[in-house]
Amino acid sequence: MTLPPRLQKEFDTIKLMVELYCSDHHGEKKPICSECTELLDYASKRLLSCPFQEHKTTCGKCSVHCYKKDMRRKVVDVMRYSGPKMIWKHPVKAIRHLFDSRRKTPAFTGKVKI
Ligand SMILES: [Zn+2]
Repeated sequence: MTLPPRLQKEFDTIKLMVELYCSDHHGEKKPICSECTELLDYASKRLLSCPFQEHKTTCGKCSVHCYKKDMRRKVVDVMRYSGPKMIWKHPVKAIRHLFDSRRKTPAFTGKVKI
């Protein structure tokens, strides 16, 4: 699967956060458990169909909530847990992510396929 660079970067960040969350919550399943694999898989699909593509802000700041309910709940848990830890474990990525999250979401009037 190939994502445009901007989306790949976001995906890498999400992946790190999910790995961190999984190893602390779901134990020794390596590298991540099936539930978290499914979440990552879902996240990559959402990124691929993101209407903003290269112009997107980070998913957490986006005005379009394209995750379905249960996936959204999971990803919010992961971000809450791993977000603050990222600054220690992956400071460069965490700071880049912060910069990206300062972007404004471009005006979007269409519909997002969920
Ligand atoms: Zn897991």
